[in-house]
Amino acid sequence: MAVERPGTVAALGEFALIDRLAAVLAEAGAAAAPELLGIGDDAAVWTPTPGARGVITTDSLIAGVHFRLDWTGWRDLGHKALAVNLSDVAAMGARPRLAVVSLGLTGGEAVADLLDLYRGLGALAARHGAVVAGGDVVASPDRLGLHVTVVGESWPDAGGRLLTRDGARPGDLVAVSGPLGLAAAGLRLLLDGGRPAAAGDGALLAAHHRPEPRVAYGRALIEAGASAAIDLSDGLWGDLARLCARSGVGARIDAAALPVPDRVRDRFPDAWLDLAARGGEDYELLFTLPPAALEPLRARCAAADLPAPAVIGAIRPAPASGAPIVLRRPDGAEEPVVGGAFDHFGT
Ligand SMILES: [Mg+2]
Repeated sequence: MAVERPGTVAALGEFALIDRLAAVLAEAGAAAAPELLGIGDDAAVWTPTPGARGVITTDSLIAGVHFRLDWTGWRDLGHKALAVNLSDVAAMGARPRLAVVSLGLTGGEAVADLLDLYRGLGALAARHGAVVAGGDVVASPDRLGLHVTVVGESWPDAGGRLLTRDGARPGDLVAVSGPLGLAAAGLRLLLDGGRPAAAGDGALLAAHHRPEPRVAYGRALIEAGASAAIDLSDGLWGDLARLCARSGVGARIDAAALPVPDRVRDRFPDAWLDLAARGGEDYELLFTLPPAALEPLRARCAAADLPAPAVIGAIRPAPASGAPIVLRRPDGAEEPVVGGAFDHFGT
């Protein structure tokens, strides 16, 4: 860490920085709980709930690849780095218990910015009953990187059940937990740069910067008897294709049923379907359920103040050949969906 301007990580040093970050987490209510030994020992310790099944997931955000610091506030960045992991836990129908965070720092970062990052991270963790139990700070001379790992477990009353991608069966409904295309529309606004601001743009940008993981929704899905789930990180077509492949089924999606908000359609009249179906980063849950489970799920969502499920199609047997997913246009015509997954190494 060569740069030592006052107020930077390099000037403060690794150990003092870790103390400051730990203090921010304590303020946020996301530091050690009695049964969780937090930051300060060689490893984090937690007590699994008897009978629960554990889940673990990890995700990395790299500057210039997954975020741009000229667009993204530090607090939002901390929120999002944890949110993408909590979303994976939610998609398993599980609850988060603890997170560990590794920061790859150039050394030139302002300490105040990193404290903000941890404020965003800590607030989200506390809201979902998780603690940040440790991590690592390493030199990453090239660029900033955030690496978050979350440990979770099945909900206490779920009898060890989790929600996987392989349970969808022909005849099941396909549904989502909330609107599609908001985050992709927000990203498009940022990419467009000079586009003049319009009413509603704030909501699009917020969806991109601060996705809210559907942890409580995952619990409702487990309780109502959903058959499979995945979180929408890479876009509807890509993530639905993954679910279908794991379940060995196909799907029909109704274009008219896609819950795409007016502000997305109005702002991008030619691109809204693409934003909703291929855009990615919605972090809503995409799930399947037997038709008989729909009413129980609606009731649970209403009771828990969650959005009502939006049914967007149905599961079919996998076709012998051709595309497993078809899009039904409002006029009834069906067209195969080809391509669509966001490929992290694509061009
Ligand atoms: Mg996922």
